[in-house]
Amino acid sequence: MKCRFCSTELTSKFADLANSPASNSFLTEEQLNKAEVFYPLRLFVCDKCYLVQIDEYKKSDEIFNNDYVYFSSFSRTWLEHAKKYVEMITEKLDLTSQSKVIEIASNDGYLLQYFLGKQIPCLGIEPSSNTADAAREKGIETIEAFFTEEFAENYIQGRKKADLIIGNNVLAHVPDINDFAAALKIMLNDQGTITLEFPHLMQLMEYSQFDTIYHEHFSYLSLHTVNIIFDHFGLRIYDVEELPTHGGSLRVYACHTHADQQRLSSVDRLLEKEKQHGLLDLSTYQCFQAKANQIKNNFLFFLLEQKHQGKKIAAYGAAAKGNTLLNYAGIKPDLIEFVCDAAPSKQGKFLPGSHIPVVNERKIKEYKPDYVVIFPWNIKEEIMNQLSYIKDWGGQFVVAVPELEIV
Ligand SMILES: [Zn+2]
Repeated sequence: MKCRFCSTELTSKFADLANSPASNSFLTEEQLNKAEVFYPLRLFVCDKCYLVQIDEYKKSDEIFNNDYVYFSSFSRTWLEHAKKYVEMITEKLDLTSQSKVIEIASNDGYLLQYFLGKQIPCLGIEPSSNTADAAREKGIETIEAFFTEEFAENYIQGRKKADLIIGNNVLAHVPDINDFAAALKIMLNDQGTITLEFPHLMQLMEYSQFDTIYHEHFSYLSLHTVNIIFDHFGLRIYDVEELPTHGGSLRVYACHTHADQQRLSSVDRLLEKEKQHGLLDLSTYQCFQAKANQIKNNFLFFLLEQKHQGKKIAAYGAAAKGNTLLNYAGIKPDLIEFVCDAAPSKQGKFLPGSHIPVVNERKIKEYKPDYVVIFPWNIKEEIMNQLSYIKDWGGQFVVAVPELEIV
């Protein structure tokens, strides 16, 4: 297998989480009687450009099935984040009713709705039809498509290029990162800006967030690597911010290589920080697996011990993170009896691999578990507030990553 960016032969393993089913292939009761497809969940790091990437595996429609697509507007924290961003960027780039904003993977219009409110022309590009429909209902122009070089070439025929291109949590999910970068270059106006947000590999390594590894997540990115990729495609990163979202993300600001934007000191400062954290040293990457194993084992030990004492354990959030952890740890419904999720499309189904039933939150109130494990730890504050009533019967929250925490 070769590096998806620079084609160097990949020989260094970053993490091996054995086999697991696609994280969104929830099962019906009937499907529990059938065989389930498991794919290897293995990451490599490129010795040359340090792009951490998923091993090739046989692609299946199952991995990209859209039945359980995530609606961004379901999370209040995320909406707040989007609103703040729009305020900030409108002022920073001096966007007006003459500007053009394009968001890639615009989901249900959770972000573009705030541009619409400011009368700034915007367009969403979104491959999944049910979220695209939800965006259109908000009055947001949305094209149902994957963002590729071919799409960009066709789009710009007779149309205005973008003054601002936004991509939140999409860069890591594209299978062909080179094609994506080339498409960005094509769609961007001469003096336009691209902002991309993606989980920061440095945080993933620092906090051993191995449960953010799943099949749909192709690349795990540092500023160092994104900088090299952009440079290769005639783009230049001129500013970067560290954000607390998704366990620690980066927001990079990029422009055409020869555009006027001045490179700010934030870029060199963060590149240096990554170097200090060992991100330019292969041995740092090779320590990751042992840390992941320790977290997995501590969590498993906790569950076994509590179960032995007759405690009741449930969970909240049927998210990809939970599935990675559960399947790597081999946890089944005898240890965690059910998981609650707000999405009605998941309720009544079973988690892939672990077969833990997904139920409505009401079940927590009826069952009164001693422990509620929170899988989406990146929004744990929001969930703890929402479920604060478990304290009435002495219930406690459990978070497994980056280390076992009981609150
Ligand atoms: Zn490479």
